Amino acid sequence: MSEPTASRIETEVRRRRTFAIISHPDAGKTTLTEKLLLFSGAIQIAGSVKARKASRHATSDWMEIEKQRGISVASSVMQMEYRDCVINLLDTPGHQDFSEDTYRVLTAVDAALMVIDAANGVEPQTRRLLQVCRARNTPILTFVNKMDREVQEPLALMDEIERELGMTVVPFTWPVGMGKQFHGVMDLRQQRMRVFAPGEDRVAGTEEVLEGLDNPAYAERFGMQYDNAQGEIELVREAAPEFSLDDFLTGKQTPMFFGSAVNNFGVQEVLDALVELAPPPDKRVAMQRTVQPEEPKFTGVVFKIQANMDPAHRDRIAFVRVASGRFERGMNLKVVRSGKSLRPNSVVTFMSQKRELLDEAFAGDIIGIPNHGVLQLGDTITEGEALQYTGLPFFAPEMFRSVEVADPLKTKQLKAGLQQLGEEGAIQVFRPIAGSVLLLGAVGQLQFEVVAHRLEHEYGVKARITGSRFQVARWVTCDDPQELKRFIDANDHRMAYDAVDAPTVLVEYAPELRAIESNWPKIKFHALREHA
Ligand code: GDP
Repeated sequence: MSEPTASRIETEVRRRRTFAIISHPDAGKTTLTEKLLLFSGAIQIAGSVKARKASRHATSDWMEIEKQRGISVASSVMQMEYRDCVINLLDTPGHQDFSEDTYRVLTAVDAALMVIDAANGVEPQTRRLLQVCRARNTPILTFVNKMDREVQEPLALMDEIERELGMTVVPFTWPVGMGKQFHGVMDLRQQRMRVFAPGEDRVAGTEEVLEGLDNPAYAERFGMQYDNAQGEIELVREAAPEFSLDDFLTGKQTPMFFGSAVNNFGVQEVLDALVELAPPPDKRVAMQRTVQPEEPKFTGVVFKIQANMDPAHRDRIAFVRVASGRFERGMNLKVVRSGKSLRPNSVVTFMSQKRELLDEAFAGDIIGIPNHGVLQLGDTITEGEALQYTGLPFFAPEMFRSVEVADPLKTKQLKAGLQQLGEEGAIQVFRPIAGSVLLLGAVGQLQFEVVAHRLEHEYGVKARITGSRFQVARWVTCDDPQELKRFIDANDHRMAYDAVDAPTVLVEYAPELRAIESNWPKIKFHALREHA
């Protein structure tokens, strides 16, 4: 294939929109995802995302955990075209125990769509994810879902979101009524009303739209709900500032939409806003330099690894966010960390739920590279340039367990299984200097259960996971290697190495850590480790 012209890459980059939906479990993320696919034309009949969830259960044992608990554990990627844009939607696990995985997914997006259950307002998991977006200044669009139910007053919701987000909320639509009396939304910018009708699984194309915000017919048709809405809209117009694209892009303002995902209502507005407001891929910071997305050479970063998505194939897919240039199947690439070369031929993309072979990709796209361990979380891949992207976070675990095998003959399988699960980021694995028992570190309890389950079903190892006395972990570094060695030697009873051999100190109580810190002023203690 010929070299793409600079302008071709530029055009492709400009039409990419890469985002994730963040929400608390049950707010309607799966439903909205499905409706976005439906409205973009990627699928014809809603139900396939749910169906996929169900079929995954059938084929994959460890997903039983997900089924039992009614939560979505695995993240995935979907690509769709809408208007003249290519939209990449990254799914995030909703359960808080998988928040580490979600944080890393959020490093791969350029915008986030926050879904809020209008009855529950801002819930804990949403709050946590928002903090990550806020820290990265990720632009956020807000969708207030389930207006067909008896929910909180829209003004109260707006106020709550504003306080929780610490950013200004600018309503783009405003609801008329709620629950059984939900009549639709006023589109404040287009100055018209979309009348609500309980939706179906297909896009009907027969939505009723009435022109004007104060059409005399409204009062008669929608009664008290219209009067209330009109009063609220006036209030909001006086109080809320004008929408500013700059303020949105720098995470200072969020446009807010009301709707009901299950009824197909308000989805179109969100899709249009994504295309019109959400930013295309931007420059990305590497240790050596800043990289522009339209540069001719391909670069990308591994932000997620998923093994055994299909246990029948024992595959292991590295999810790579393209940062610059053009990816082409079969091109020669280099894994910067190891210097190893890579020539991915069976790279997959994720069009409308199916894995498909991919021919080319541009900045913002997510490609899946099947591999047997050549790629690790945080790896940067280039055409040869020594470049390491930063910013992929690993958090010091907050819970620890010892892990042993019931059958000593299976020690090798245990190690292999834990190595893979560790590389995937499902759990952190530590090798204590003293003793031979491995330690597992997690952010949430559920991670241990998933690991035990997967060890048994994917690696045939019954693991004994028991309590550990450790409570706190910190990665340690020092500008002076001699001093670091002295520290490690002096603390060998509580030192361990993690999956990438980074030295880690483990302590039982937080005050103990403070004592160690003051005794070793030259040593740096990190609760966050970036990239591998
Ligand atoms: P997720 O956990 O965030 O992915 O949430 P789901 O999309 O699975 O939705 C959780 C529940 O809320 C399901 O039973 C949906 O049918 C329901 N739901 C989603 N959107 C709406 C809505 O607009 N109105 C109502 N009444 N229910 C909804």
